[in-house]
Amino acid sequence: MIDAASFTAHLRSLVGDNAVLTEEPLAAHTTFRIGGPAQWLVRPRTEDEVAAVVDACREAGVPLRILGAGSNVLAPDEGLPGVTLKLADNFAAVEVLPGGLMRAQAGATNEAVAAAARDAGLAGYEFACGIPGTIGGAAIMNAGAYEGQFSDVAVEVRCLTVEGESVTLTAPEAAWGYRTSRMMHEGMVVLSATLQLRPDASEAIAARMADLTQRREEKQPLEMPSAGSTFKRPEGYFAGKLIQDAGLQGFSVGDAQVSTKHAGFVVNTGNATAADVLGLIAEVQARVLADSGVALEPEVRLWS
Ligand SMILES: Cc1cc2nc3c(=O)[nH]c(=O)nc-3n(C[C@H](O)[C@H](O)[C@H](O)COP(=O)(O)OP(=O)(O)OC[C@H]3O[C@@H](n4cnc5c(N)ncnc54)[C@H](O)[C@@H]3O)c2cc1C
Repeated sequence: MIDAASFTAHLRSLVGDNAVLTEEPLAAHTTFRIGGPAQWLVRPRTEDEVAAVVDACREAGVPLRILGAGSNVLAPDEGLPGVTLKLADNFAAVEVLPGGLMRAQAGATNEAVAAAARDAGLAGYEFACGIPGTIGGAAIMNAGAYEGQFSDVAVEVRCLTVEGESVTLTAPEAAWGYRTSRMMHEGMVVLSATLQLRPDASEAIAARMADLTQRREEKQPLEMPSAGSTFKRPEGYFAGKLIQDAGLQGFSVGDAQVSTKHAGFVVNTGNATAADVLGLIAEVQARVLADSGVALEPEVRLWS
């Protein structure tokens, strides 16, 4: 059993006082605006600091979670014991390399990477410009939209294994599938990713980004807190359509509601709890199964 005060001091010696928050509400770090306190929320700024925190947790037997922009996570109401390692604007360098390559640290947002690519006259990442997560989250989830997905452009990811070993995985080694990856299954920390893009005129890239943004704004409840699509797309169906057909659009449990704008999204209409969202998910799964025979599987990462 570790002593919390001395572990706090140890973390602060590794990453600096300001980079370690204690009992930090996860609701402030997730797009659902849900989640109780993280025992420690740590924001390292360099790869060495990330590795040092990962090593410290392993050596002390402290649970470790990685958080990007928190746009695909349902954090528990009771909070999380151990360290939540946040890789976001504290770890977000983006570089344009020769030969149409770009390298981004895990915390860089898709929006920032897509904008840097556009400015450099590099096409191929437009699909991700409206996915409100980080490169780390995109690599773990194989994020995708509008016929594009992360694995179409990623050539390499640098990671830390759970043992703290630094590895570079090629695309085949990353074993991307639909909203899944080897890094997800093996609990790796994604440090950075390299993308292969192709030359194009910045104006043409900007026009495609504007078009995708408009399509997203028209269809999705972007004005409400959510974690995007609640369920994975079942083979041969659309989750939102199945939910709508089961008469569930607008259905709610507490302040968690099936969006009236897009039935594939669960939104937080005020003070939804994780218990509300979990209750809603279970009810939607049961009713859709009864109505259509299709079993919906959550895409949102349900932390417990
Ligand atoms: C309005 C809205 C629209 C969305 N639209 C889309 C869409 O079109 N397509 C799509 O695919 N998704 C979409 N999403 C979901 C979400 O944005 C993506 O899944 C995104 O890739 C998650 O990135 P993140 O940084 O927010 O990850 P988080 O939500 O912080 O984390 C997601 C998972 O990745 C892990 N993780 C994050 N960073 C790292 C890292 N550096 N190393 C190891 N593990 C890590 C976390 O532990 C967690 O398991 C949408 C969400 C919202 C709110």
